[in-house]
Amino acid sequence: MKLTFDDVLIVPKFSNINSRSEVDLSVNPRGMPYLKLPILSANMDTVTGPKMAQAMILAGAQAVLPRFGSIDDNVKAFQESVIGGTGSIQAPMVSLGLGDHELLRAKALMSAGASTFVIDVAHGAQLSVVEQVQALRKIIGHERGIIVGNFATGASVEDFLQHFGCDIDGVKVGIGPGSACTTRIKTGVGYPQLSAIMDVVKSLKNYRATYGKIKVIADGGMRTAGDIAKAIGAGAHLVMLGGMLAGTEESPGEIVYFTESRQTTKDELFAKRKNADGTFDYVIHSPEESFYEIKKKYRGSASQESYLAQGKTAKHRTTEGESFLVPFKGPVANILQDIEGGLRSAMTYVGARSIEDFQSKCEFVEISPSTVAENGAHGKRNA
Ligand code: 5GP
Repeated sequence: MKLTFDDVLIVPKFSNINSRSEVDLSVNPRGMPYLKLPILSANMDTVTGPKMAQAMILAGAQAVLPRFGSIDDNVKAFQESVIGGTGSIQAPMVSLGLGDHELLRAKALMSAGASTFVIDVAHGAQLSVVEQVQALRKIIGHERGIIVGNFATGASVEDFLQHFGCDIDGVKVGIGPGSACTTRIKTGVGYPQLSAIMDVVKSLKNYRATYGKIKVIADGGMRTAGDIAKAIGAGAHLVMLGGMLAGTEESPGEIVYFTESRQTTKDELFAKRKNADGTFDYVIHSPEESFYEIKKKYRGSASQESYLAQGKTAKHRTTEGESFLVPFKGPVANILQDIEGGLRSAMTYVGARSIEDFQSKCEFVEISPSTVAENGAHGKRNA
């Protein structure tokens, strides 16, 4: 039986860690920036733009910029995301698709200072991706990093590497687990995400001498800090998040206001009043509308809406993603802090001081549906 996050719990173990602050969450992967927090924001147009990239980098995490706009817009977004001046810049990772045009994108982004390139297609285990890696390596040399995705099994990663040798720095794992993804429904294809991670990690370990430096990025399906702890405990070095970071202040897109009866805007809903000290208060116009919700859009990169924005036609292609509104969540730093706290705590529960230590000590117990019901604050449900 193959498993996903809800099917397991991490087994607590004897620990000699006195404080969560003793736990080190950093990773230093070859071909990628050093990270204090092993989290990447997804290369989706409603998740990562310059504001998100900067916030992620400032928090010690990283971002992957989407590739859907023109090359010029992509370079501009990259330049706006960079933190620091000449000499010591901190820059986000960038993504590429297949074909010659995407190699031009790579050249332009490299000239702007990009040093980690994510070749991101729905199905990484295909010959055209191998060819793209070879062409990209010729352009960017061996000092810069290449990550390839997505994969869902160790066997498909091994097949890929056998075609190409070991000249990549990371693989991205996840076919169909994403929170805006409908691939499994539309095609029947997929692999339970926790097992997919374990399977790829195991394959790379079997070939440690050759492939030991290749890092595994768990991409999609994580809804809580606990899921992230499970992904990392299963062997992922980094996780990529879409839905968990969508709807934040820094994610691209408009904030939408809903009252009980209508969709509206901040300006329509509130009057702006200047206080004596020069600050502003927002005062609601109509008391009947004092109950309102604030939301932002999250959309799958293969959704109808994204296809339209990217100018893609739907011939021979079905949509494999959805778009919907998610609650506004405030600054992304709060979410990252929550994840960091959860991860530190998980590692303390198994007595692990580093990510590597955590991965060697982490053991899972499979659970039944009644244990799933026991998880979470179920007292509230029964009250
Ligand atoms: P989440 O964190 O929301 O569960 O998953 C984010 C991941 O879902 C992305 O990094 C990407 O791999 C995947 N994804 C994004 N959009 C789509 C889509 O439209 N279709 C599919 N199949 N996967 C998507």
